[in-house]
Amino acid sequence: MENLTQVVAIDQAVCTGCRRCAEVCPVDAIIGAEGQPQSIDTSKCVICGQCVLACSAFVSPFDDVAENLPAMRKERGLDADDQSLLFAAHFRSDIKRVSALLSDPAKKSMVQCAPAVRTSIAEEYGLAPGTLTPGQLAASLRRLGFDAVYDTIFAADVTIMEESSELLQRIESGGPLPMFTSCCPGWVRYMETAWPDLTEHLSSCKSPQQMAGALFKTYGAEIAGVGPESIASVAVMPCTAKKHEAARPEMQASGVPDVDAVLTVTELAAMLKAKNIDLTAMPEEEFDVPMGLYSGAGVIFGATGGVMEAALRTAIAVTTGKDVSESGVKFFPAGEGIHRASVDVAGKNFRAVVVSGLANAAPLLEDVRAGKADFDFMEVMCCPGGCVAGGGQPKLLPGVDRADAIAKRRGGLHRHDKELPVRASHKNESVVALYEKYLGEPLGHRSHELLHTHYGDKCGGH
Ligand code: SF4
Ligand code: SF4
Repeated sequence: MENLTQVVAIDQAVCTGCRRCAEVCPVDAIIGAEGQPQSIDTSKCVICGQCVLACSAFVSPFDDVAENLPAMRKERGLDADDQSLLFAAHFRSDIKRVSALLSDPAKKSMVQCAPAVRTSIAEEYGLAPGTLTPGQLAASLRRLGFDAVYDTIFAADVTIMEESSELLQRIESGGPLPMFTSCCPGWVRYMETAWPDLTEHLSSCKSPQQMAGALFKTYGAEIAGVGPESIASVAVMPCTAKKHEAARPEMQASGVPDVDAVLTVTELAAMLKAKNIDLTAMPEEEFDVPMGLYSGAGVIFGATGGVMEAALRTAIAVTTGKDVSESGVKFFPAGEGIHRASVDVAGKNFRAVVVSGLANAAPLLEDVRAGKADFDFMEVMCCPGGCVAGGGQPKLLPGVDRADAIAKRRGGLHRHDKELPVRASHKNESVVALYEKYLGEPLGHRSHELLHTHYGDKCGGH
């Protein structure tokens, strides 16, 4: 069995055996009898962090284990004097790693933040879920010391350029179809561990996090006038599986890791608070150009259905000239956590499926395995609701209506999409310039080198 303690783990000395975590684990990876300390079956775990969100058992100063607090903090990657609560289910902290990168004078630091961060981080300051703070987020990251404050959403737009081209190519050349999205690392890991015979259906696109990282160390390094080894590439994510994805050995397009460190939303908030940076009091600032300019299509990647909607906006526009950004694509419910749509793409009827929550994907995968799939493209998000409900998001305290809070975070992203002047990825002028000046064309030689990978049954390199 591989060792995942470096990303998600349960501290047996703190665990009460309540098994709340087992109720939310999408792959039944939590093992143990009720009332006994639990452990994680790492051969099944997809590192989604849902167990971390659910766990409410933490070390109090009156517990016997409190004597070991410095050692426990060290094991979790925290400073010896870190004051955060130590919960039984937890993820590895990368705060020290990011602090070291920021204080390295030889490095030019570049940061990206995922769409779902800007609709939840204000909760760490007592504001309501769905409070949008993109401008304050950019300002806060700048105060923290990052040299370039870029955005994962720019890379989400690039993902759409590559993924919609790949889809059209697969349709024209006969497959393999249906194609599956590959931007959620929990979903990719599930495919690699539980359905390895179907991994050829995954798009070869790297996730937006990894595309951004690869571009920071090549295009960004060229803009900064340095080599890839001089760039410190940091990502702020709503997701614990992103820490694991960044460490996949094949994610090194320039010969060094595309992404050097990943912070969750809660980790970024802790870093800001330690430096007395009040995000909510920050002025609204812009993200840096060119890799901080983004469209509304990229914004909705953070909510279930968003990747599919964004891909269809571009695929329909490119093949039919119709702009569906305003009207949207009509999806209808088709079972627990499943929505379907049928649209015209490239003169053909095109069937799309959106799946929210890993557990809901299994029947559709059985159909693919049996050659009975009645769809062409499937989006799956591991966490129910999408990245807005990721394992690196702020904990929703007992008593908070979880479904309502997730809906509000999702609503924040859809509001942001509607208020942006550009709402389709292929219209993002920084993306157009990236292809003109650097990449050439989607699926071209350089795109393949930097932005695509091969997913297989290697479980992310372990
Ligand atoms: S990280 Fe996700 S898959 Fe792994 S044990 Fe926790 S809930 Fe289950
Ligand atoms: S890890 Fe947390 S949620 Fe899971 S059984 Fe232990 S105390 Fe309960």
